[in-house]
Amino acid sequence: FNNELQRSEKMEIISELAASVAHEVRNPLQVTRGFMQLLAQKSKQSDAEYLKMALNELDRATGIISDFLSFAKPETEQVNTLDVYEELKHVTSILQPLANLAGGSIHLDEPKELYISGSSSKLKQAMINIVKNSIEALDEEGVVRIWAYAEGSEVAIHIKDNGIGMSTAELSRLGEPYFTNKLKGTGLGLMVTFRIIEGMKGTIKFSSRKGSGTEAIIRFPAVPPNTELTGA
Ligand code: ADP
Ligand code: MG
Repeated sequence: FNNELQRSEKMEIISELAASVAHEVRNPLQVTRGFMQLLAQKSKQSDAEYLKMALNELDRATGIISDFLSFAKPETEQVNTLDVYEELKHVTSILQPLANLAGGSIHLDEPKELYISGSSSKLKQAMINIVKNSIEALDEEGVVRIWAYAEGSEVAIHIKDNGIGMSTAELSRLGEPYFTNKLKGTGLGLMVTFRIIEGMKGTIKFSSRKGSGTEAIIRFPAVPPNTELTGA
């Protein structure tokens, strides 16, 4: 028991540390990117090639940070009663511009009174990684639909897109570290998502068909509103 306690304290310190590092590193990465782009505009062809490679690597670093720590806050994570609709609304508003840029949109269904327990920033990270994949899979007239409802003692969340879809072989590799089919992918997004959902005692299931789209169904244990989660 003592060892366990020490372990979870250590884990907490590590994730706090990772969050503050991510926070501090993101800004200089962005500034560096700006200056390198300026240089790329001014330089001759041969130099521009190198700058382009450097920019790609910089984007990879930023991608890894955002797959893990988009919402990381330097403070310790809090376990709270979360209003599922409020969380989904936030995720939708953050990613709507990205969806629009891809020529599509995100549609979130009517609000319902649904509550689960967990850390708001971790839940958002998990959802963002799924919805971002949906957006990246969209073609013209792409739609990502998100809805949630209560089912027995659980809350179910569906995220469905009409994008490129996946084969059974691809489906079976989801969540595997570094599995990516994208030029600029990290292959870490779903691994992070799976871990977060597991940590919240939830489950996730994907179904997909090549050419017609993908649906993720996430289930969490429901909690009554305003539950005091002492010692959770
Ligand atoms: P990344 O997005 O960096 O590639 P992820 O772990 O987020 O890494 O996803 C792994 C792979 O799973 C993606 O490269 C993609 O091929 C596939 N994938 C995940 N979600 C979808 C989706 N909604 N539609 C089509 N393919 C998807
Ligand atoms: Mg991804």
